[in-house]
Amino acid sequence: MSYTITTILCQSFLCECIGCDIVSGRIVPPGGMIAESEHFILHQDPEVPIRAFFIVASKAHIQSMDQMSVAEARECFDLVYQARKLQSRLGDISEVLVIQEERSEHFHLWLLPRYAWMDELFANSLTTVREMLKYAREHRCNEDDIKEILETVKRSRELWRLA
Ligand SMILES: [Zn+2]
Repeated sequence: MSYTITTILCQSFLCECIGCDIVSGRIVPPGGMIAESEHFILHQDPEVPIRAFFIVASKAHIQSMDQMSVAEARECFDLVYQARKLQSRLGDISEVLVIQEERSEHFHLWLLPRYAWMDELFANSLTTVREMLKYAREHRCNEDDIKEILETVKRSRELWRLA
């Protein structure tokens, strides 16, 4: 079943699977890919304007880590580990929430950073995550926010190369 997504750059796409569309290059994540390994990719979340909100996704259309080989699972976690280290190197991220939901048909894992603006508005809890993402879409998607996100993606790619 197809659905429409709107990216933080205000582009709309009709997708069968956004994960597969990003892997194939039909949809370019904001600022482009940050890193990739043989079976996984790392990029900024395309739909939520939160700086350094990273996604690690499988290249294959699988739903669960249960469908990975041991080697693939290790490769995946290695990328998650490096992505988390990268968030620390970006400077102002003190804490990251790691989420992997199997409701999605295409395996992806969220590395959601915590910022001061969130502390003022939302309890630091899993239960506020959806509300917080909605708030970001509605109130933190202006030109400066997007510019900062794109600069962070660029900086992330540079730091990745240096690591
Ligand atoms: Zn897919």
